Order: sequence, then structure tokens, then C-alpha cells
Amino acid sequence: MKTSEEYKESLKKMKPNIYKFGELIEDVTTNPATKRTVAGHAQIFDASQKPEYEEILTTKSCLTGKQVSRYLSIISSAEDMIANVRMKRLMFNLTGTCTGGRCAGFNAINAMWAATFDMDKNLGTDYHKRIREWLKDAQKRDITISGALTDPKGDRSKPPTLQKDPDMNLHVIEERNDGIVVRGAKVMICGVAAANEIFIMPGTGYKEQDKDYAVSFVIPRDIENLTIVETRRPSDMREQEEGFDIPVDIGGITQAYLLFEDVFIPKERIFMCKESSYALQAVMNFIAPYRAAIGGCVAGQGDVMIGAAALIAQANGLSEKMFRQKITQMIINNETTFGMGIAAGVLGHKHPSGAWIPDALLSNVNKVHVATLPYDTKRITQDIAGGIAETGCLPSCQDINNPNYGKLLKKYLKANCSGETRAKIARLIEWLTIGAGVPGCMHGGGSPDGAKMMINAKSDINHYIELAKRLADIKEDIQVEPKKK
Ligand SMILES: Cc1cc2nc3c(=O)[nH]c(=O)nc-3n(C[C@H](O)[C@H](O)[C@H](O)COP(=O)(O)OP(=O)(O)OC[C@H]3O[C@@H](n4cnc5c(N)ncnc54)[C@H](O)[C@@H]3O)c2cc1C
Repeated sequence: MKTSEEYKESLKKMKPNIYKFGELIEDVTTNPATKRTVAGHAQIFDASQKPEYEEILTTKSCLTGKQVSRYLSIISSAEDMIANVRMKRLMFNLTGTCTGGRCAGFNAINAMWAATFDMDKNLGTDYHKRIREWLKDAQKRDITISGALTDPKGDRSKPPTLQKDPDMNLHVIEERNDGIVVRGAKVMICGVAAANEIFIMPGTGYKEQDKDYAVSFVIPRDIENLTIVETRRPSDMREQEEGFDIPVDIGGITQAYLLFEDVFIPKERIFMCKESSYALQAVMNFIAPYRAAIGGCVAGQGDVMIGAAALIAQANGLSEKMFRQKITQMIINNETTFGMGIAAGVLGHKHPSGAWIPDALLSNVNKVHVATLPYDTKRITQDIAGGIAETGCLPSCQDINNPNYGKLLKKYLKANCSGETRAKIARLIEWLTIGAGVPGCMHGGGSPDGAKMMINAKSDINHYIELAKRLADIKEDIQVEPKKK
């Protein structure tokens, strides 16, 4: 398996095709816009070598029996799913934020592992054989793979073929003997700058008339005719800043737009091409492990927020015990999403392909909690911190160290510790609660309303009614007249 240095080298060797603020990023490992997300992902390689984390971050390949990165494995059991949730929590503990250049790709591999198995079985295709061969090679190369599902979509009330612009969802524009040509975009894709390859799959189900949009494949990040644009982030101004104004130098989250201008995909890298009736199931296969495991992500960041909240209380001269009720609530929030993720994994089932699919109801309930509870944890962190951690209330590192007036700023910032230490904690809290450290709790992995639709679909109201009727000994059939329009 790669060292973090070998990983960074592999990124340096890639052809530059990522832009930001109109400029081409020549080296993602050193450019201010991308170097922190690379540093965060590099920590996965460092931590994998440590005995205390090895069991979480690596596993035995079901293809070769060799030890591989868990991010390149097939989740084959409840134990694998538990390790996945723990892995996400660990990575947030280590980086303070998201290493999304791996987890969406990891889930996409697993989703398409099961979907290709079904297609081959029912349609006589050879997609599963292709993904198996590609994955074996990916494990050998120990590459980092981001995952791209989200299309621009255009008018949300219309399917792709009814859009004024046919490119609003990524689609096949040409089929050749040796592959396909695709056009369109995928948007808001996490950690692409830190990835060697990108795994593409549908973002939703498609009907027969939209079959050109049902497409899945994997590409090198620097493939010809792909342009990548990094998004602007709240922390961008800070890239110009220094010292503790950049509170975490070893982690960072980035999103990007992928612009496909007639990109050729060779046949052996295609895992779905126009099989529209399998697109929705592929998305469901993605959602189940993703929405379970994000419970670990937000708990991992919550752990850091608890630490930062306790620290600032102490720095302010107050024992963290004074805030015990609030901190207890933060712990409850964390363990709720973590525990639900574990439970969804444990109550999953084995797909005939060997992939483990977590319980859909619990993982979608978890998605709703993930879109709610971390915001409460952030609110409590700011509440405990005082105004110093809200944005715009703390002078810059440069000013605090100014030879003329810095001494005075430090004097008035000090409380139960030096002014500089208090400022460092406050900056970390700002980053965790409203800054660049905020992961995609609300929409990452899909909208909470989408999850609620799934929860409704997975819940049988009549079953609940029967339970109540039995206990109350009600035999009468109660009917409600449908509302007249
Ligand atoms: C930090 C972050 C990281 C991300 N990383 C990735 C990644 O790595 N890979 C990836 O593929 N994607 C990624 N995404 C994208 C994410 O999956 C999408 O944001 C999410 O699926 C929601 O889609 P959208 O943003 O287009 O919202 P929309 O679809 O526009 O939804 C907006 C609102 O409208 C509602 N809505 C939408 N359509 C309808 C409808 N027809 N009827 C009624 N209501 C509707 C939704 O429920 C929601 O409330 C990331 C997002 C974030 C924020």
C-alpha cells in the first residue's frame, strides 16, 4: 500500500485540468486552493500504517486476499459496515473535516458492484466482470477515487428529455465498438483535487425515454476533454492569511464542477450504458451505506467541537463542568447519528453479489438526523464560546502579532490563558461551526426531504394501525372518504 508521499507523487504526475479563479492549478499538492484537501486525504495513508488504526482503515480484499485500503473494498458484512462508520468518525477526528474524495467513490464502487451483478444476471451483460477487473487493478495501484452522482438537473420538475437543454444531466451521445462518448456535467463533487480517478454513476432513477442518461463508468481525473472547476469557499480569503487564521492546515474540504465536453470512455471502464431500469436501484445501493456512514462523519466532527467547546470554556476561566448539560447534549447528538449508522449497518442484508446493503429505513432516518443534529452541536459550541468565536469578532493573526498594537490586543484577549491561545481556540471554533470545516450535513448524500420520501416508502402505516387496533380490541373497519377536489 502507498505511503502518503507516494500518494502525493501520484497526484503531481497527473495532467493539470483543475481551475480556480480563472487559473489552472499546476500542482494540487501545493496550490493553496487544494493543498489542504490533499493533506487531509494524505492522512488516510499515514494513519493506515499505524497499528492502532490499521484494523479500521484497511481490510482483506475479497478479490485477492491481500490487505487493501478499506476505501477500495467491497462492504461484505455488518462488521465491515461498522468499520466503515468508525473509519468516517476517525477521519473527522484526524482532519476536523471531510475526506470526501474517498467516501463517495467507495460507496459508488459498492453500489455498482451490486447493480452490475444484477444486470449481468438478468441481461447477460459483462459489467460485473469489468468492475471486478478494474477494482483489482485499483487495489493494486492503491488509488484515491472520488464519486460523482449529482447532475446539474436544470428544472427540478422535469426529467432529462423534457429539459430545454439536453445536457442538464450527463448522457451518452455516441456509442462506438470500443466505448462511448459522454456530454454534460456533475456538480458539487467532493475532494476531486485529491483523487486519482472519479467514479461516475446516475444521480437518480430514469425511465426508458431517458435511457441515454443511465450511465456509469470510472475515469482518470485528468482524462481528455474533462475540465474541472473548484468552487469558491468561505475560506478562500483566508488562503491569503497566515498563522492561526488557518486553524487546520492538515485537512480541508473542496467541491468541484466536472465539465464533460464529449469525453470518450473506453469499454472496459463502463459499468452501465442505457440500462435505465437499473439506475434507481444503483442509487438506492449508494444511499444505504452512505447515509448510514455519514452518522460517523458528523459524530467525528462533533467530537472535535466538544473538545473545542470545553477548551474555550477553560480558556475563559470557566470549568467545562459549568456547561455540562450543554456538553451532554452535544454527546447525545453525536452518539445518535453514530449509533444509527451502526444500527443501519447491523440490520442490513447480503446482496447476492456479496455486497452488504444497510437497512434503508434506518439509514434514511439517520440522514434526517445528520441534517439536523450537527447544527445544534454547532450552535451549542458557539453558545459556550462567547462572541469571540462568531465570525467577525476576532482580530487577525497578523494584527495580534503586530509590533505596534499586537501587545495590546494580546493583553485584552487573554483570560485564563494567553491571548494567542484563546484566539487559536476561537478560530478553530469559527472554522468548525461556520467556516470551511463545515461538511455537507444538509445536502451531502442527498436532501433530507428526499430521505423523508424514502422513510415514507419504507414504512407501512397500516401495520402501525393494526398494532393499535389489536391492543384496543377494535374490530371495526374505519374508512376515510377521499377529499373531493
Ligand atoms: C458539501 C457537499 C458535498 C457534496 N459532495 C458530493 C459528491 O462528492 N458527489 C456527488 O455526487 N454529490 C455531492 N454533493 C451534492 C449533493 O449530493 C446534492 O447537493 C444533493 O443530492 C441535493 O441536490 P441539489 O443540491 O441539486 O438540490 P436540489 O435537488 O435542488 O434540492 C433542493 C430542494 O428541493 C427539493 N426538491 C428537489 N427536487 C424536487 C422535486 N422534483 N419535487 C419536490 N422537491 C424537490 C429537495 O428535497 C431540496 O429540499 C455534495 C453536496 C454538498 C453540499
